[in-house]
Amino acid sequence: MTESAKHVVVAAPRGYCAGVDRAVITVEKALDIYGAPVYVRKQIVHNKHVVETLEQRGAIFVEELDEVPAGATVVFSAHGVSPAVHEQAAERQLKTIDATCPLVTKVHHEAKRFAKDELPIVLIGHAGHEEVEGTMGEAPDHMTLVQHPDDVDQVELPTDKPVVWLSQTTLSVDETMETVDRLKEKFPLLQAPPSDDICYATQNRQQAVKEIAANSDLVIVVGSSNSSNSVRLVEVALEAGAKAAYRVDNASEIDEAWLDGVDRIGITSGASVPEVLVDGVLEYLEGKGYPKAVEERIIEESLTFALPPELRKDMKQREQA
Ligand code: SF4
Repeated sequence: MTESAKHVVVAAPRGYCAGVDRAVITVEKALDIYGAPVYVRKQIVHNKHVVETLEQRGAIFVEELDEVPAGATVVFSAHGVSPAVHEQAAERQLKTIDATCPLVTKVHHEAKRFAKDELPIVLIGHAGHEEVEGTMGEAPDHMTLVQHPDDVDQVELPTDKPVVWLSQTTLSVDETMETVDRLKEKFPLLQAPPSDDICYATQNRQQAVKEIAANSDLVIVVGSSNSSNSVRLVEVALEAGAKAAYRVDNASEIDEAWLDGVDRIGITSGASVPEVLVDGVLEYLEGKGYPKAVEERIIEESLTFALPPELRKDMKQREQA
């Protein structure tokens, strides 16, 4: 092995998506306008560093609304909430700001529409994930959750009637398609959602890591353990041919042994990961004798979302005061 054989490639797009950017700015602006503390139900986005940074500024993260004092301001996370949570907030007279990603809201609308049409819905997603809880809450009587292709065998719905499938936004595209194929075999009248539920950011990050994985001895994915899309990036990298792939929250979690005999390293990060954490990993690798990283970009992203209207209204009033 020679020094010159070593290289580091960073996948692009990586890191922050439009929904995460909007959610984080929402909490920052809420702190500016209303002052600390601002309560946030669940982690605003699934990233430890982001949550800790906002906590230092005065955000208080809670699991449920009964931990929020009556009359306080609470932000709902990017993953979305069920109607029951909105109702509970109204009962407790909380001021709410909904930072649900518009692409998650789109899936909620689809669920409501199909439930109104009395169609059974198979939701492909992970049990216990906040997004899945929120989406299922829109139409609990119509939903059947399927987590893996093999779960399709256990789905008990009429096979001679239409069934529609929806999905969590941050799944593996390939595994989801495998599940859909199994559903099609079992339910010949299966209907697809009007457009992709797996969001553009998840798809782009998976495609970008695929491009670098086959040529990598090691892929390092920066992202937190509860970040669905980050965990999927590890799986996708391995399926696409990476010899090894690991997820780390930051550079301090890299095990030096992973670098033994490794020349070609690929790096990427999940949709909730600030770039500073990727920079930390690249600096660590340079410190271990690897050259500066080269970026391999497969697509430019330009999507942005407006901040929640309830926040914009208060921002405007503040400007005019
Ligand atoms: Fe929205 Fe996709 Fe980002 Fe989730 S990963 S916040 S669905 S853009």
